[in-house]
Amino acid sequence: MTGAIQEMIELLARLPGVGRRSATRLVFHLLESSPEYAVRLGTALCQFHSQIERCARCANISDRNPCPVCSDSHRDHSVICVVENIPDLWAIDAGGTYRGVYHVLHGLLAPLDGIGPDDLNIDLLSDRVKHDGIDEVIVATRPSVEGEATAMLIRQSLNQLPVRVTRIASGIPLGSELEYADARTLERAIKDRKEI
Ligand SMILES: [Zn+2]
Repeated sequence: MTGAIQEMIELLARLPGVGRRSATRLVFHLLESSPEYAVRLGTALCQFHSQIERCARCANISDRNPCPVCSDSHRDHSVICVVENIPDLWAIDAGGTYRGVYHVLHGLLAPLDGIGPDDLNIDLLSDRVKHDGIDEVIVATRPSVEGEATAMLIRQSLNQLPVRVTRIASGIPLGSELEYADARTLERAIKDRKEI
C-alpha cells in the first residue's frame, strides 16, 4: 500500500463513527470517483475553518457574523432559546414552530470534567438580556444532571434582571440528547415550558 493511500485512510479513520474499515472503503470510493469530486472536496476542506465564524451575538456557528438567525428580521428578537450546542439549535429550528432567536452555550456545566460557569457563554447572555430588550429566556438544555445544573446557573445569573426565565417541559427522555428527539416532542417541550 502506498503512502498516500495510507495517509488518507489514517486521516479519515480519525473522524467519529468512521473506523479503519469504513475509512478504507471511502478512500477506494474516492479513487474510483471523478478527480473533480476529489478536488472539490479538498478545496471545501481547505477553506472550511477560515469560512466559519462564531456569531458575536449568540455564538451560533455559520459563515456569517451576525449569523443568519440573528440577521433574520422576521424572527421574534425578544425571546432567546438557550441551547447546549449547534445540533440542538438545528433540531429546534427544524421544527419551524419556534421563531425566536438562540444562545449557544457550547457545553453544559460539568465541574467534574472541568467545565465551570466561565466556560459557558453566560456573561454574553446576561449582556443580551440587559441591552437587547429581551422578554423571555427559554432554557432548552437536555434533561440530565448537567442540563438541570446549567438551567439553575442561568436562572441565578438573570435573577436581578426583569426577564421571564422558563425551562422546556419534560417529555424528552431523561439524559437523552435533544438533537435526537423527534420534532413533535421538541415542539411540545417548548410549548409546555414552565417558569423557573
Ligand atoms: Zn447569532
